[in-house]
Amino acid sequence: MKQEKAVVVFSGGQDSTTCLYWARKQFGDVAAITFDYQQRHNLEIECARQIAEELGVEHTVLDMSLLNQLAPNALTRTDIPIAQEDGQLPSTFVDGRNLLFLSFAAVFAKQRGARHLVTGVCETDFSGYPDCRDAFIKSLNVTLNLAMDYPFVIHTPLMWLNKAETWKLADELGAFDYIREKTLTCYNGIKGDGCGECPACKLRKAGLEAYLRERGEVKA
Ligand SMILES: [Zn+2]
Repeated sequence: MKQEKAVVVFSGGQDSTTCLYWARKQFGDVAAITFDYQQRHNLEIECARQIAEELGVEHTVLDMSLLNQLAPNALTRTDIPIAQEDGQLPSTFVDGRNLLFLSFAAVFAKQRGARHLVTGVCETDFSGYPDCRDAFIKSLNVTLNLAMDYPFVIHTPLMWLNKAETWKLADELGAFDYIREKTLTCYNGIKGDGCGECPACKLRKAGLEAYLRERGEVKA
């Protein structure tokens, strides 16, 4: 697939940065696309810009502020707290986000002659987000191909990995330290290991610790 072009849906977080490294290994020509939907922290966009630049990846930021207009949520509105009640979607959920992002990414990709789309969605830790599920991705893949009469392939390298396995993949790609230091996952906008308190940091930390324990055991 070295002759083929790919577009990575890229947020500057741990998962999509791992996907970016993965895509660079698979494809000869990789571009990254970031959606600006007025996230809590504009730092997220800056972080994505910096990583793309450092990795020498062509990067495009698309304005998706209409998403906030349609569906106010805790990721875009500072007056909505980040919380999850039992059995309910977390307040960070944005209806249709992956549907919209992947559809726009597909339009963008076709224009540059790329048929491979890469996204960091994951069913294992999907927190109940319906558009992170494998069945949805496969369904959308068929829909995009029919909609644009183009042989897209959506790649989801993280689909069945837990957070520890995602760290392991980063390590196998030679990107463990880079991803640990340079990516932004924290809802409070703190790079690397983050604030340690928010749900995103807790999830990231639990996976990191599980992987470090595993790696320690392998060495010993
Ligand atoms: Zn945090």
